[in-house]
Amino acid sequence: MIRCPKCDFENYDKTEYCVNCGKNLTNIEQTHTFKLSISLILAIILPGISYFYLKQTYKGLMFFALFPLLLINFAFIGGEYTICYPISVKMIISLLKIVLVMLYLFQIYDIIKITKKVNTFLD
Ligand SMILES: [Zn+2]
Repeated sequence: MIRCPKCDFENYDKTEYCVNCGKNLTNIEQTHTFKLSISLILAIILPGISYFYLKQTYKGLMFFALFPLLLINFAFIGGEYTICYPISVKMIISLLKIVLVMLYLFQIYDIIKITKKVNTFLD
């Protein structure tokens, strides 16, 4: 498969022009592959950034749309030990923490999956 660099459309091998946008595909370098180690390190240190490395801009933006959740959580953690919140608020904080951990682990899993998939198409 040849991935069109302009629109990301998957074209069959030996296609001269992209079926979707018409870009000339004859001179495209097919040797570039995404390094799993790089996307994995990025995913662990800077969650969400790997999506942009893998050109999954839409998913990256979706991930960062969830950032306000993270900020709210940090704001609560800061006051958790100094202010006595009612039990309902404490439950929400605990729930947010679980959601964030799950989100963090999910993006690592998702990025491994995407990297492998993208590299298969480029091979
Ligand atoms: Zn195209």
